[in-house]
Amino acid sequence: MTQWQILDQTYIMSTVKRLPIAIDRAEGNYLYDTEGNKYLDLFTGLAVNTLGHLHPRIMKALEEQSHRFLHISNLFLNPPAIQLAKRLVEHTLSGGKVFFSNSGAEATEAAIKLIDRWTTREQNGKSGIVVLKNSFHGRTLGALRLTRQPSVYQDFPTLSFPIYEIKANDIDDLEEVCQRHQPAAVLVEPVLGAGGVITLTEEFLTAIRRICDEHQMIFAVDEIQTGIGRTGKLFAYQHFNFQPDLILFAKGIGGGLPLGGIIAGPNLADVFQPGDHGTTFAPSPLSAALGNAVLDVLLEEGQLERGRQAAEKLWSQLQALQEKYPQVFAYIDGKGMMLGIRTHLSAEEVKQLQLNLLKQGILVNVTAKTVIRLLPPLTLNDEDIQFFIKTLENYITDHLSVKEGK
Ligand SMILES: *Cc1c(COP(=O)(O)O)cnc(C)c1O
Repeated sequence: MTQWQILDQTYIMSTVKRLPIAIDRAEGNYLYDTEGNKYLDLFTGLAVNTLGHLHPRIMKALEEQSHRFLHISNLFLNPPAIQLAKRLVEHTLSGGKVFFSNSGAEATEAAIKLIDRWTTREQNGKSGIVVLKNSFHGRTLGALRLTRQPSVYQDFPTLSFPIYEIKANDIDDLEEVCQRHQPAAVLVEPVLGAGGVITLTEEFLTAIRRICDEHQMIFAVDEIQTGIGRTGKLFAYQHFNFQPDLILFAKGIGGGLPLGGIIAGPNLADVFQPGDHGTTFAPSPLSAALGNAVLDVLLEEGQLERGRQAAEKLWSQLQALQEKYPQVFAYIDGKGMMLGIRTHLSAEEVKQLQLNLLKQGILVNVTAKTVIRLLPPLTLNDEDIQFFIKTLENYITDHLSVKEGK
């Protein structure tokens, strides 16, 4: 064990199994550890550093805002946050409004309270939220009620508001739940992230919209991970031909600083009244200034489009590798720069693969035990892709004793 590992284990609660490297600095698509090793970051701090590390536009916004004010509380008008809210609304639910939070879980909490206030205001007798099996919506107690991964929620106290768990992409299941009960809302991740990178079908998503209209329910999308360019559009629902009523966002929006929130469409924009909800820190002016820089780079400097092209290259090379080694790779799921490589390997073999890639200078994440999860920056270039594909193929041929094509 290194000194950093010993200190970490002595003084920080062990809520996660950490990789054994201590980070010294980061730049672009690379991290550097305290030993001077360099790592390609295909992980981006869990889908936060969408533009890589220390992007010049982000650093400029950080520099400028840091000399104006760092915190003012939400009792004052906050120009960077107002600007950011305007841009988010204009690119999503026209006529809507934003509530800002500091994190993803808090965005979920705000959504739960807003849905509850809406049912009270409408006096429509509805209650409860439909969520998907294996969903992840956060770890605070309200959000945890909606997170349907037993390993995450079990043995913790449970809040009592009703939820209805259905299978992903199962329209009949959804129809039945909405007929039988009177849920107030449906909440889904367009691509389930922590649940193992599972892409919802267009058919299912458009069915949710139809069913929500039929039953006068709220359709909420948790775009905390899929949003801010991750899947090739600003928000993942924009790949399709429908509009949700409520969008949850966080992770990528703050350019590395904590920021999240919800965007409510016009029919929900005024559900919260003064006193209904609040937070001391959010929206941090610094985070909001970085949020504006993130949108500048994605939407005005063309990075969303370049990221989409880079993702296509990564997908085509990974798919070629999957076809070459079908006994190792089952299939690849996800969208854009959010990929889950489903393997035929054991959890232990995937762990070894992850640690070996780390030794070779590549950071990947593992989820659902045997799924290699990639959350690369949109700034990934051809060289990075070659380096990753070559290293991965070398590992397969050297360590997994497989022959091409079987
Ligand atoms: C990460 C994540 C959350 C929780 O966000 P935190 O900032 O960790 O609280 C909620 N929903 C989804 C889809 C996420 O990926």
